[in-house]
Amino acid sequence: MSDEVPDTAPDTATSPAPGPAVPTPPRAVGRHEGHQHAPARQGGLLPGLIKGLATTARTLVTPSHTTEYPDAKPALPPRSRGVIALTEENCTSCMLCARECPDWCIYIDSHKETIPATTEGGRDRQRNVLDRFAIDFSLCMYCGICIEVCPFDALHWSPEFEYAETDIRDLLHEKDRLGEWMQTVPPPPALDPGSAAPAEIAAADKPKRVVPERTAARTAARPAARPGPAVGAAAADGDGPDA
Ligand code: SF4
Ligand code: SF4
Repeated sequence: MSDEVPDTAPDTATSPAPGPAVPTPPRAVGRHEGHQHAPARQGGLLPGLIKGLATTARTLVTPSHTTEYPDAKPALPPRSRGVIALTEENCTSCMLCARECPDWCIYIDSHKETIPATTEGGRDRQRNVLDRFAIDFSLCMYCGICIEVCPFDALHWSPEFEYAETDIRDLLHEKDRLGEWMQTVPPPPALDPGSAAPAEIAAADKPKRVVPERTAARTAARPAARPGPAVGAAAADGDGPDA
């Protein structure tokens, strides 16, 4: 006896449930099926023309959002990345920004200067003097890495953006121009109420440590270096390496 289902058996999984016959609605014919469906043309050209003219009239009376630059300056966010400004006094010529710049568009020259000792017997000190600091804004991609890595807050973003030139070679700006842009750098945002004071201000406000007189006198009377144990005495006590 075979278990095969005959081909003529009804498919109960897909067949509709028996019931009253429902008239099937006519299938909609698409644009690509016979090109018979064109409802837009049924009303004629006039309603579409009126609708288009109404849209034109509405746009004419709607205020424009275009800023009439340069007659009207755009109101930029205060932390906009317009140009990089330099505080020359803060720069120690450490070269960190120039090394981290992905475009290598920062040029720094400096020389060492000797500062004589201020106390008798003291050592002379040396410091770097900045000769040249330039940024080529035709190469700069405004990533801000140089500003982030500067350990002395010498570089800042300014929202100034009107420094376009007709010659691309004129976009190499030296430290004098970068210093002028410091005037346009906005002040830092105010701290949140209740937040801790910045480390620099907290250190400046810290009261000086007062050394009690007795401690100061004891420190002054203390010998500079304690004498170490005598080698002969250690050997006699049996603590030596040979014991
Ligand atoms: S701008 Fe900052 S990181 Fe760059 S050389 Fe000067 S101190 Fe160093
Ligand atoms: S913003 Fe980026 S690309 Fe421009 S000078 Fe600084 S590090 Fe270089």
